[in-house]
Amino acid sequence: MARYGGRQTVTVLPGDGIGPEMFSHVQKVFDTATVPVDFEMAPLRADLTIKRDEDFENAIISIQRNGVALKGNIETKLEDPHIPRNMELRSRLKLFANIVHCVSIPTVPSRHNDLDIVMIRENTEGEYSGLEHSPQPGVVESLKIATKVKIEQIVRFAFDYAVKYNRTKVTAVHKANIQKLGDGLFLKIATEMKEQYPQIQFQSMIVDNASMQLVSRPQQFNGGIMLMPNLYGNIISNIACGLVGGPGLVSGMNIGEKYAIFETATRNTGTAISGKNIANPTAFFRASCDMLRYLGLDNYANFISDALFIALTEQGVHTKDIGGTAKTSDLVEAVIKNINAEMKKQKHI
Ligand code: ADP
Ligand code: MG
Repeated sequence: MARYGGRQTVTVLPGDGIGPEMFSHVQKVFDTATVPVDFEMAPLRADLTIKRDEDFENAIISIQRNGVALKGNIETKLEDPHIPRNMELRSRLKLFANIVHCVSIPTVPSRHNDLDIVMIRENTEGEYSGLEHSPQPGVVESLKIATKVKIEQIVRFAFDYAVKYNRTKVTAVHKANIQKLGDGLFLKIATEMKEQYPQIQFQSMIVDNASMQLVSRPQQFNGGIMLMPNLYGNIISNIACGLVGGPGLVSGMNIGEKYAIFETATRNTGTAISGKNIANPTAFFRASCDMLRYLGLDNYANFISDALFIALTEQGVHTKDIGGTAKTSDLVEAVIKNINAEMKKQKHI
């Protein structure tokens, strides 16, 4: 990782929509908290069609040099024939695991309270292999790739995560009754590997039932991990994010052996709400805290997340998406004020 004079450089891919404004807020908060991190901007956006490949390669090189990136979503237009850039970044950098921790925030209105579920999703294969073709007019073949190596990697990651972070249970979500080979392999590997982790409870659940259980009785997954192949993981994670308050609140991590990218859990672009000072910056702040923890800068992460938590709970600074009237800037200012207050307090100790 790139660390000079005690400072860490990280790549920032602001993306489209609300991304650029959200990272300017993250920068302000980092400055306030005197976080020893510098941003290297990689302007990778949907509209840069001319220098497309050059910009993409530069972004990859920057992340490879710095080891970590903060990322907004790059808009993927339905008519764009290329492999989506977001997806290509994950596969090129071998970011095999996506982790989304859905925790209820007190005072944020939601359908269920006191949720605490970790979603671990295979992040580079399955339906996201970019292999679709039309062998003849009116017929499309869309390939879902499942490999033993990558399944073992994600299943191992989930069980190790459970041990490290004291999660009691792993639920493997699948559709092996229909996708007998593809999901069958996933289920088989998960069921075999659980034997190596006798301290962790294990169960499997068919994805349709898991969806129903999650919206009706999500508490049954509390304290555990839902382990999923790529596409189910995408959908189920979004359901879980919806349960704890929506796209503006939750962050997501993409982890590989060498590199990591931190972004919002639901990976939305937010084009329609950009430039209006109404987006909820919480998910981006939490992504930046995840990154700081990954870098071993836990004190700074706690500092910022405590300030944010106070603003959202005690101070009730709620943006429109969670039923409030606060603007983006109101929440940013509240966080900055809370950080300043805490810094003042610590100086007097
Ligand atoms: P996509 O990236 O798929 O185009 P959208 O940008 O349409 O997704 O986002 C999906 C929904 O989530 C929209 O209603 C959008 O306004 C909302 N949303 C996404 N991010 C935020 C945020 N940070 N704060 C508030 N609402 C958000
Ligand atoms: Mg959109």
